[in-house]
Amino acid sequence: MRTSEELLSNCGLRKTTFRKKLLKLFQDSETTLTVEDIKKKIGNNNDKVTIYRALSTFEKSGLIHQVPDKNKLSRYALCNSKCKPSNQAYQHAHFICDYCDNTFCIEELEFPKIKKIKGFEFKKLELIIQGSCPNC
Ligand SMILES: [Zn+2]
Ligand SMILES: [Zn+2]
Ligand SMILES: [Zn+2]
Repeated sequence: MRTSEELLSNCGLRKTTFRKKLLKLFQDSETTLTVEDIKKKIGNNNDKVTIYRALSTFEKSGLIHQVPDKNKLSRYALCNSKCKPSNQAYQHAHFICDYCDNTFCIEELEFPKIKKIKGFEFKKLELIIQGSCPNC
């Protein structure tokens, strides 16, 4: 796996201490992360605005993507090599656990081809599966 520094360089992003720390948090985490999780893990020195701003930069660069959350919180996952910044929402399914509130990327499940319907412009397609995860 690439280091957080390499990933930031690849995206042409400045390697600030905060960005390195935030990206490493995603790399070390076995789960997807909500902004609250991040705030708890990264300490109180960084306010929510700083965290949101960095997350938005990461998202635009294709480093992370937003995933659905059971409680409608902002939750993010580290992108895999198959994710594309332009249409990452189309790439894979997401699994929401009914018991631990966690969301998982299910990269094995790619989206089927969706037939175009005249007059409708599709902007977002989500494939969400609910159930119990391997930990529960
Ligand atoms: Zn992604
Ligand atoms: Zn679970
Ligand atoms: Zn995902």
